[in-house]
Amino acid sequence: MDIVTAATLFCLVVAALFLSLWMYYDRRDYALFEHARRKSTFCCIRCHFLYGAAGQPDVCKCPRCGHENARLRF
Ligand SMILES: [Zn+2]
Repeated sequence: MDIVTAATLFCLVVAALFLSLWMYYDRRDYALFEHARRKSTFCCIRCHFLYGAAGQPDVCKCPRCGHENARLRF
């Protein structure tokens, strides 16, 4: 194996290593923060309090009065 082939293989291995690390950390961050990043908005029909909840639940209790409200849809 000559030096050019060895250098090319080394560069390909290093590139594959960095690409796999980048994909791993990108997927990990997406899984960790996607739930917290997505928020749903609710408006209480009893006390008219506007509040939010993480994720996309269909119903959520009002933090002020405890009434369970449906998610606002736009
Ligand atoms: Zn309420």
